[in-house]
Amino acid sequence: MIVAMQELATEEQIDDVIDALVAEGVSVHRTTGATQSILAAVGPTANIDLSKFEVMPGVLNVHRISSPYKLAGRAFRPHGTVVEFANGVKIGGEKVAVIAGPCAIENEDQIHAIAKFVKASGGEFLRGGAFKPRSSPYAFQGLGIPGLKMMHEAAQENGLLTVSEVMEIAQIEPMLPYVDCFQVGARNMQNFNLLRELGLTRKPVLLKRGIAGTIEELLLASEYILSGGNYDVILCERGIRTYETSTRNTMDIAAIPVIHKLSHLPIVADPSHGTGRRDMVAPMAKASVAAGADAILVEIHPHADKAVSDAAQTLFFDQFEKLMGEMRVVASAVGRTL
Ligand code: PEP
Ligand code: MN
Repeated sequence: MIVAMQELATEEQIDDVIDALVAEGVSVHRTTGATQSILAAVGPTANIDLSKFEVMPGVLNVHRISSPYKLAGRAFRPHGTVVEFANGVKIGGEKVAVIAGPCAIENEDQIHAIAKFVKASGGEFLRGGAFKPRSSPYAFQGLGIPGLKMMHEAAQENGLLTVSEVMEIAQIEPMLPYVDCFQVGARNMQNFNLLRELGLTRKPVLLKRGIAGTIEELLLASEYILSGGNYDVILCERGIRTYETSTRNTMDIAAIPVIHKLSHLPIVADPSHGTGRRDMVAPMAKASVAAGADAILVEIHPHADKAVSDAAQTLFFDQFEKLMGEMRVVASAVGRTL
């Protein structure tokens, strides 16, 4: 249930409405926009008499939300969520952000070289995996916390933010000092215990769509984080599994405008996992910018063909640099910058 307050509603009037909602036994999430506050009531709202709230001072209108996701739905924040990081970088604003790095952090030289290049190319985020969800238990599993320390140092030296995947609850605490944004991988989109715990942190979460996840399931998964009070959720389209075998996954570009319509949360496009092929990453990255992606996530490596994981989809530096220039042109064509 959504209660939209009038533009001139006072804090006292807003508090009165919140108190009245809490008295009905629901929990209230407030979003304070530039001109208007919106209150989302989550819980047993079915028997609440809406007219009781419609007549309260300062209330503009009240309506029930028919979608199963309450906090991720656009009605909660009609103007969209902008996730802002400590250094002022934003995801969800007019500028399309760039998140780049290796699939896995491998060693000092590799991560420092990549950090330097991401910065020089105009990217804002250094992303590398330290805990890797590999299909085979015999494949490289990542360097763990020592790897994250390396990435954090390389990012700091170059004025970049860090993103890395968290696979289980026990990793959250030790990762906190080294990451600016947690990534939840496709395989964990429905690891509800992990999502709930991330909802209790106050660090942005990049939530990837599962390989068989519908958009509704992705939005419901985000609800687990949002309902804990962590509103800094960034969704990620990274391809889904279909009957098509030409690409590793099928990049669902349409998910980008669909999600923008249904939700206020920003959406990142990951054409690296979305296609699994180095030669398809640039076309899909450009298409994603054109479709309205708020950030692009790409895997890069100085020796891309020798990367220890996801080599086939990893871009060489020169390919990444060329792509950055092309994405800038596309961004300006759709009224954005990059
Ligand atoms: C990754 O980001 O390297 C990764 C494993 O991604 P996904 O969860 O999308 O497969
Ligand atoms: Mn990868």
